[in-house]
Amino acid sequence: MLKRFAAALCPSLVLLFAAALAAQQAAPSAATVIRAGRLLDPDGGRILANQIIVVDGNRIRDVGPNVAIPAGAQVIDLSRMTVMPGLVDAHNHLALTYKPEPENNVYYYTYVQESTALRAIQAASNGMQMLASGFTIVRDMGNNGNYADTALRQAIEQGWIPGPTIINSGLIIGGMGGQFFPTPEMAREHNIVYPEYLDADTPDEIVKAVRQNVLFGARVIKICVDCKPYGYTADEIRLFIREAAKVGMKVEGHVQTLNGARNAIDAGIWSIAHSTGLNEEMHTLMAQKGIWRAGTDTPDTLAGHPVSPQAYQRTVASLKDAYAKKVPLTFSTDADYYVAGKTRGEVCLEFLKTWKDAGIPNADILRAITVNGYKVSQTEATRGPIKAGYIADLIAVPGNPLDDVEALKTVQFVMKDGLVFKRDGVMTPAAFFHGGPVNGWRIR
Ligand SMILES: [Zn+2]
Repeated sequence: MLKRFAAALCPSLVLLFAAALAAQQAAPSAATVIRAGRLLDPDGGRILANQIIVVDGNRIRDVGPNVAIPAGAQVIDLSRMTVMPGLVDAHNHLALTYKPEPENNVYYYTYVQESTALRAIQAASNGMQMLASGFTIVRDMGNNGNYADTALRQAIEQGWIPGPTIINSGLIIGGMGGQFFPTPEMAREHNIVYPEYLDADTPDEIVKAVRQNVLFGARVIKICVDCKPYGYTADEIRLFIREAAKVGMKVEGHVQTLNGARNAIDAGIWSIAHSTGLNEEMHTLMAQKGIWRAGTDTPDTLAGHPVSPQAYQRTVASLKDAYAKKVPLTFSTDADYYVAGKTRGEVCLEFLKTWKDAGIPNADILRAITVNGYKVSQTEATRGPIKAGYIADLIAVPGNPLDDVEALKTVQFVMKDGLVFKRDGVMTPAAFFHGGPVNGWRIR
């Protein structure tokens, strides 16, 4: 039928069509096949031996021990490695890097001295550093200048550069002043809080602030619950949640006081950042309501960023209590600073120490840094698990992370969106770079 129809149009079309069909049949398979010596299933906390993963385009087509290898497929031999799903940092700031010098780790100065454009370029680099350490998803939670986080997400999604999948918050929304304490003249005459924070002090301003972030490319809403004494009430937080829900977005609260935690939990917030406002009672309530804990559990080993023994003990004790009370846990770092000699990804993996010191079993650390990360990022139906139909993101390490979670520090192989980003321990990102938006300029 098609042939006759085509012939009616133009005889040469038939030849073209036949030639195209023949070329398609003869063409070698575009599939990539990964031979995994061990495949880690973090959900089940188990290792599957000798698995074959077939990747077609940017998706996983098949996984199993007896999967047929398509003719002509490129085969990647990871038979001596543990292949596993990509890692998630549920709280990072890719376009912010404050430093011991010259700003004495005070990001007010970073923000004054470094343009959004420079910070966006830093974010592109930080994103690649995260990907090289196996982080295929990063929730980028504000303090990113004038929407550098959105620019990074768009550059990655449109196909300009490699990077993790970015779930970005846009500007952090807070009551007047955000997390800053500016002078009256700098605040009133120079609007110095913006663009690091978006002031929203009334219901109208709350609605408008959420809409601004949605318009400018946020994928999650981040609010300062109690950065100031006039923090948000539970009703005000509910308004944020309702407005964000119109576009399917969740709300994360920066929480630093017990009262703030109570209001956020009462309102049914999606996730709570930091652990300073959380006690045993809050953990119990969070477990009951299924509220994600993005504790940002800083270790005491980061050069140039000292954590006092007392502060570290509090962090460890809080994480331990949250685990005991079955609070949904995410691996989250709040990484936004330079540690000499370490990449942004290496800094984040240092946080494994806090989890180990809290006595959390490797299987549950691995769930927090993978499965729970996909859920808090809302990608669990599309991206994360190594299953047929999912987008092909995966990593490989020597050793077995279930026996020793430190194995995550030696990521040798990274595949993102079906393309190889790192192989044999070396970044090989050529396939990700393009002179135009190959995935579509309409991606906003
Ligand atoms: Zn943060």
